[in-house]
Amino acid sequence: MKRIPAAELSGEARDVADFLNARLDAIAAAEKEQLQFIADVSHELRTPLTVLRGSLEVVLEEERPSEEYREAIGNALLEIRHLSRLAQNLLFLTRGQSGRITLSFANVDLVKFLSDLTRELTPAAADHEISLEVFVPEEPVRAFIDADRMQQVLHNLIENAIRYTKAGGAIRVRLTETPGEARLEVSDNGIGIATRDVPLVFERFFRGDLARRAYPGGSGLGLSIARWIVEAHKGRIEVASRVGEGTTFTVKLPLVV
Ligand code: ADP
Repeated sequence: MKRIPAAELSGEARDVADFLNARLDAIAAAEKEQLQFIADVSHELRTPLTVLRGSLEVVLEEERPSEEYREAIGNALLEIRHLSRLAQNLLFLTRGQSGRITLSFANVDLVKFLSDLTRELTPAAADHEISLEVFVPEEPVRAFIDADRMQQVLHNLIENAIRYTKAGGAIRVRLTETPGEARLEVSDNGIGIATRDVPLVFERFFRGDLARRAYPGGSGLGLSIARWIVEAHKGRIEVASRVGEGTTFTVKLPLVV
């Protein structure tokens, strides 16, 4: 994009030129970011599509026993689920970016919210031979949240914990209350995150090498969406992790006073 040669101007004309140049720079940066976004999305789409195409082509090459067809269809379904989750996450991101997501807040008891949510996810953890335990205070802890969106955050965190923890592992979901703040923690004793990757995990499309090896089907979108939702609640999300020991994500939310 062409810039106005501000150096040749002076006074008010210079100020106007500087202002316009700054706007042009901002537009060019936004355009560059958009192109990067499209490149990332194309890449994320290509991988599962290549896998789908390859495995279906191979299975159709000759007559096979029915278990082989079942296996190929099962694998195809996995890739299709991954593609639908990706489409859902992308829609959420684009709506969020253009400010079209409206949150509807209500006064919610986090004790009940977490107990219900972990009960729903226990079978998914059990399928992977991972235990899912929840620790909540006896008394209600009330916060002003959009329960559907906050559920999406916890789903993303707990699904990650399941994905990145080996069979026999444990996930702990804990709710505590500090003055003015509710803390929701999701801890696992899984593969952990490399120190250099920790500051990057909330970036859109970022995936750690360890995570790629453990689970090739991820999209690197879950945590960026989680952060977006938590920040829209005026809260914060943090991570602490050690390779080979495990990971804890903490969501801090302002309480209803
Ligand atoms: P995805 O899981 O699809 O890769 P996310 O945005 O949910 O995308 O997570 C980004 C990255 O953060 C992961 O690729 C992984 O490197 C790291 N990560 C997230 N949760 C965990 C966890 N519980 N244990 C280890 N690594 C994790």
